[in-house]
Amino acid sequence: MTSRATRATRPVRQRLLSPAVAGVAALALSSCAAFSDDTGTASDDGDVTVAAAFYPLQFVAQRVAGDRTEVANLTKPGGEPHDLELSVGQTAEVAGADLVVYEADFQPAVDAAVEQNAEGATLDAAEVVGLEPFADEHSEEEHADDSHSGEEHAEEEHDHGDLDPHFWLDPARLAELGDAVAEQLAEIDPDGAETYTANAATLREDLETLDGELSEGLADCERSTIVVSHDAFGYLGKYGIEVEPIAGLSPDAEPTPADLARLQQIIDEDGITTVFSERLVSPALSESLARDKSIETAVLDPVEGLSDETADEDYLSLMRENLAALRTANGCR
Ligand SMILES: [Zn+2]
Repeated sequence: MTSRATRATRPVRQRLLSPAVAGVAALALSSCAAFSDDTGTASDDGDVTVAAAFYPLQFVAQRVAGDRTEVANLTKPGGEPHDLELSVGQTAEVAGADLVVYEADFQPAVDAAVEQNAEGATLDAAEVVGLEPFADEHSEEEHADDSHSGEEHAEEEHDHGDLDPHFWLDPARLAELGDAVAEQLAEIDPDGAETYTANAATLREDLETLDGELSEGLADCERSTIVVSHDAFGYLGKYGIEVEPIAGLSPDAEPTPADLARLQQIIDEDGITTVFSERLVSPALSESLARDKSIETAVLDPVEGLSDETADEDYLSLMRENLAALRTANGCR
């Protein structure tokens, strides 16, 4: 994962032209410098294109862009964004986009394409919103079997800690991303600046309303702990929710028998009523744990992507469904 080592320290890296093209541009500059204020702005065909790495980023980019720009999602509906592989065509989308909105250290294939291929501006959501560390030791356990050698792993932890990438489950952080996307689009397409700023402000209102509903709806509950399939819900900690994941960071991580025994004990001690599963990964683990304890299963959507089932939903409606499911499971008044 070279991206970790070369991660940008600024929120936005404006990658300029390739050396060959830059040389030509420099020649042009020397003869008519007065007209050369458009480096890094939209290509001459006038259409601004945005590539978003996965659904919540696409949602934000689309809301901010409105009708002015086209937004492509690199993670297709029904796909699970962890461990996304990019096709040649998608790599070309990254290369050709005027703006790539992605999250460093979440999808290595996208990081690589951004590093190697992106010719337009790139916006790293992680740098914009500020990530929080995972709440406890789960993440270290799930990293123990990944592909890094021991020393490498220790070094990386020293640099970045184990940061939770699922920031979009905090609507306030998503609003910050909206403002940053508006700023970027305004630079690329100055004629649209007012539209982008206004769209980001409307998006912020919607997200702040949702944030208030979550705070209020989860303020007075019998329980605060939730059992979920993968460790995606740490950002609900701001509403008092404590998360016990069956698997680790990645939906395919397998729990050990000791993990399961510990969860069963927590379910008994806290009087937990529900094991949550999600739509884009198999509910088998959640279902077997719930069956063992004779309790319910319900869907809690990490909003990592839409599927056929949720094609008519969006980030806001899915988060409101999550709120309703949490209130039922935790006995909120
Ligand atoms: Zn995830």
